[in-house]
Amino acid sequence: MTRVVLSIGSNLGDRMAHLRGVVDALRPRLLAVSAVYSTPPWGGVPQQDYLNAVLLAEDPELEPSDWLRLGQELEQAAERVREVRWGPRTLDVDIVWAGHSREGEQVEYRSADPTLTLPHPRAHQRAFVLVPWLDVQPDAVLEAAGRRLKVREWLSALDAAEVEGVRRTELSLGPL
Ligand code: ATP
Ligand code: CA
Ligand code: CA
Repeated sequence: MTRVVLSIGSNLGDRMAHLRGVVDALRPRLLAVSAVYSTPPWGGVPQQDYLNAVLLAEDPELEPSDWLRLGQELEQAAERVREVRWGPRTLDVDIVWAGHSREGEQVEYRSADPTLTLPHPRAHQRAFVLVPWLDVQPDAVLEAAGRRLKVREWLSALDAAEVEGVRRTELSLGPL
């Protein structure tokens, strides 16, 4: 049984259609969907604003590597082209966090493998991930940079301007 927190984003083409494509494909496995946020680009490459959301999903059969493959298939279905790092894209699907239950407890996956690093190594620095994550899991905890903090604590450590840049829209990916 794996449970995952997925961050999805788009800043090219019909951005909402790209996000909806993910929700439609994952619908039977979705537990919760955040609001849709308009967010400035992250990473220094000038480009159009993103729409971002976070999904909470679960599947008894899928391993984290299967979730990665599924995310990449969805990116390909949106005709994503890989050009510059952190450049514009039709769809990005990142696995922010993955866990499974063992004897009733949630155990999180940890991996330093560059092909699939868990938890996502930059999630704690990104308001566009943390803000929507709180919509689906208000008490989520994230271990990063050797510290184990609530997602809301990571968020309050970020620059206020960065957090304010993440704007909740009236757009919706629900109901499930
Ligand atoms: P960032 O990872 O900083 O958000 P990005 O999403 O733009 O950057 P991509 O080009 O989409 O980066 O992905 C590069 C590689 O990252 C992928 O081929 C994938 O194998 C790897 N990767 C490592 N950890 C993860 C993860 N947790 N979720 C998704 N991809 C990951
Ligand atoms: Ca990403
Ligand atoms: Ca990615």
